[in-house]
Amino acid sequence: ESTIAVRVHVSPLPADRILIELIDISELHRVERVRRDFVANVSHELKTPVGALQLLTEALADAVDDPQAAARFTARIQHESARMARLVSELLELSRLQGAEPLPRFEPVPVERIITEAIDRGRTAATAKDIELVREGETGVTVSGSESQLATAVGNLIGNAIAYSPQDTTVTIRVGEARGWAKISVIDEGIGIAPDDIDRIFERFYRADPARSRATGGTGLGLAIVKHIAGNHAGRVEVSSMPGNGSVFTLLLPSVAVPAQETAPDVDEM
Ligand code: ADP
Repeated sequence: ESTIAVRVHVSPLPADRILIELIDISELHRVERVRRDFVANVSHELKTPVGALQLLTEALADAVDDPQAAARFTARIQHESARMARLVSELLELSRLQGAEPLPRFEPVPVERIITEAIDRGRTAATAKDIELVREGETGVTVSGSESQLATAVGNLIGNAIAYSPQDTTVTIRVGEARGWAKISVIDEGIGIAPDDIDRIFERFYRADPARSRATGGTGLGLAIVKHIAGNHAGRVEVSSMPGNGSVFTLLLPSVAVPAQETAPDVDEM
């Protein structure tokens, strides 16, 4: 679908002439629509917890004589406000990544360090569901970039793997390197993703199952953040999955042959 604008020029042409200009403004329209949708989505996402908080605080005020009910409402208030805080911080993170600020200073980062940090962030959620986090594959692979951003990206993938898997399963983080690319795969035994959804899950706020995502505390922004971080590092993220058969998310990043300090010349050679 395209949108064409028509511009008619009369002057400075001779009196019997007009010039009709056809301009393709489809892209302009698309960008404008994406922006409008985004604002509508953010408003909707914020309205839900704010509405819940209003109702819950009213209920809490009415429950002064019922400590058990009051405790229940308080727990839900904490849950909703934590989700809202996460939503706001992920929105800020996303807008930072979308180029408002310069790229982070790039330095060699051992993949093992990224994974250790990412696993640490997912540990509590994994323990709560008896999910085992297993590391395997190559060691000594190094990439170039921002350690904290890359740990966020891998952490989001691990967080999703845990959120969309049943109890007592395994999430494997596998590292490989081939032809100049470092591969970090996060493999789960969870619910998987339908072919119709798989192309869209990296869009902001797209969820295959909105109710499930909300129940796990998801914001719908995690994979959009991963995609931006991969892009900022000249890399990309890939996914393969089958409903009921688990998913594999792979972060591909240009690898660095050797950490800088090991390539420094000997003092004798200088
Ligand atoms: P959310 O906060 O909803 O998890 P994400 O951007 O991280 O948002 O993911 C978008 C959607 O992709 C999720 O709502 C879910 O439907 C799907 N998804 C992401 N990771 C997985 C996974 N490991 N297994 C199954 N579905 C997943």
